[in-house]
Amino acid sequence: GDGQGFLVVEDLHAGYGAVRVLHGVSLRVDEGDICAILGPNGAGKTTLLRALCGMLRGQGTVRLGGVPLTGRPPDAVARRGVAHVPEGRGTFMPLTVEENLRLGAYARRDRAGVQADLERVYGHFPVLKERVKQAAGSLSGGEQQMLAIGRALMSRPRLLLLDEPSLGLAPMVTRELFGIVRSINQEERTTVVVVEQNAHLALDIAAQAHVLESGRIVLSGSAAEIRADEQVAQAYLGYR
Ligand code: ATP
Repeated sequence: GDGQGFLVVEDLHAGYGAVRVLHGVSLRVDEGDICAILGPNGAGKTTLLRALCGMLRGQGTVRLGGVPLTGRPPDAVARRGVAHVPEGRGTFMPLTVEENLRLGAYARRDRAGVQADLERVYGHFPVLKERVKQAAGSLSGGEQQMLAIGRALMSRPRLLLLDEPSLGLAPMVTRELFGIVRSINQEERTTVVVVEQNAHLALDIAAQAHVLESGRIVLSGSAAEIRADEQVAQAYLGYR
């Protein structure tokens, strides 16, 4: 990266009505990097992603590629290249795999481009290609998470926001999923911000990491620095 930050967040405050959750979050993510957000339950990780994608209106600065996004509605933020894969995935269970993927491209009129992007997504997730006509609700948890990420990729995002992709998945499935996220990042240069309880795995694929506690960033550094931090090790990596 150029050190200036592709995603720039400065003094971001956000919450739910009178409930204030983020108290001045600042961070930068270089273009093409994977950034991990770690922290305990209730720290505000999900809230941070919601504020970044426009679901929540925050106060402060959010810029992507120099363009201010703060205060813009979700569809405008999506048009600037931000795709959000929420916790719990948000796939449409009765619809087929392919119908779900096409929903990710609903705003596009170029049929050839959409077809090419479907093939691109199937290239990353071959298992989805085997299940194109299957209802999303019949997929395994890991396949549903793949579908949710695949749907996000259909909008050709420049920034992918992933909320707890490992939630409820077996360790082996999670490892496979993180491997695919890394290859998407490398092959498409998609910048990724991933919120994760599984700090080990997140730090394996991330360049940078930030620890969020009570709505504030308490520690930032390279993945190696964060992994080496004694308190992080005790709190999130299970060392004693
Ligand atoms: P978890 O891993 O448990 O999801 P988190 O770090 O993602 O934790 P958030 O989900 O962002 O944390 O929640 C931060 C705080 O915001 C919590 O105190 C939570 O109760 C509160 N909160 C979350 N969603 C809402 C909501 N819709 N309305 C009011 N308060 C909320």
